[in-house]
Amino acid sequence: MKQHFVLIVAVILAASTSIASAADKAQAEPILCRGNYHSEADAVKQLARMAATYKNLDQWKARAANIRKQILTGANLYPLPKRTPLNAVVHKKRTYEGYTVESAAFEARPGYFVYGSLYRPLGKKGPHAGILCPHGHARGPAGGRLRADQQHRCATLARMGAVVFSYDMIGFGDSEHLGWNHGHKQALTLQTWSSIRGIDFLESLADVDKKRIGVTGCSGGGTQTFLLTAVDDRVAVAVPVVMVSAHFFGGCHCESGMPIHKTAELETNNAEIAALAAPRPLLLVSVGGDWTKNTPKVEYPYIRNVYGLYGKTSQVENAHFPKEGHGYQRSKRQAMYPFMVKHLGLDAKGVVDPKTGDFDESKNVLEKPEQMRVFDKENPLPSHALKPGSTVAF
Ligand SMILES: [Zn+2]
Repeated sequence: MKQHFVLIVAVILAASTSIASAADKAQAEPILCRGNYHSEADAVKQLARMAATYKNLDQWKARAANIRKQILTGANLYPLPKRTPLNAVVHKKRTYEGYTVESAAFEARPGYFVYGSLYRPLGKKGPHAGILCPHGHARGPAGGRLRADQQHRCATLARMGAVVFSYDMIGFGDSEHLGWNHGHKQALTLQTWSSIRGIDFLESLADVDKKRIGVTGCSGGGTQTFLLTAVDDRVAVAVPVVMVSAHFFGGCHCESGMPIHKTAELETNNAEIAALAAPRPLLLVSVGGDWTKNTPKVEYPYIRNVYGLYGKTSQVENAHFPKEGHGYQRSKRQAMYPFMVKHLGLDAKGVVDPKTGDFDESKNVLEKPEQMRVFDKENPLPSHALKPGSTVAF
């Protein structure tokens, strides 16, 4: 009898332990909001739930601080890692009409390089505004910062007086050429940290005005744009293009593969994350042909309401193209340029046609990938660079 009792107690204890550990596991399991995590109708309901959590600016600021902390925690960047030496390389200068391009790289972490193109104005008096240009996942014959639309965007901004840094995602451009794969498990962490260090890099340049830092990117580059703007208040102006959506969270693990949107304590979405830009100037570029199709009636009003708490609704705008599809095509760039000119104090003289308002891109020179490489036979990669696929220590 006594033996039976002991056995029963042991079974009950074992069962309760396994229930407890299952509960612990469920609690510890990260909640990921990937891709179309919820429907458009559910997104509208979620925005209403979130809007009900604050009624004034103080309450919003408290919520915004919690969202910022959740993003950094989810991205394994909380507290922010120590800034290590950038050891920047800037070389291979090419001179064109009204601007120059150099190949540039810096170490976001010791041995982990971020590769890019540095566009600078020619014949304009400094100090200059600094603009980061992250890119999305579109590949084609030459993807990322090698794409024609990305080169046009950077060159045109440089011709108007901005120092522009266009940089590779992991596994694109030079990063891909050197053997890194976009499937790297730290992609979200590395790209968010690379953007933060991208501002450090711009600020380290003697000709850049630290008070005028902008960022713009499309699709996956739009995700990088609003994540950076949310976590780094040095961003003065942001233009996320075709990515701010309340129902779509980004389809790649570099956008939604870590628990930045939802925890047991707090739910948010990319529309609210974009609202963390407030009260800084923010332009949402949206189209009818992707997940930003509802922006004028769903995401934009939510974000505008947040700007209203600051009394700054004039700082947020939406340029919507109902008949257009995904991408940073000429029409979208034409919407972004005047916003950057206005808010970063660029000089559009000689670039914009005062009669039509059209920004001339015909003077831009489209470079070939080989010209844009940072490291090549003549300029070898430093020997301490991490091997492709390495886990990067933070
Ligand atoms: Zn990605």
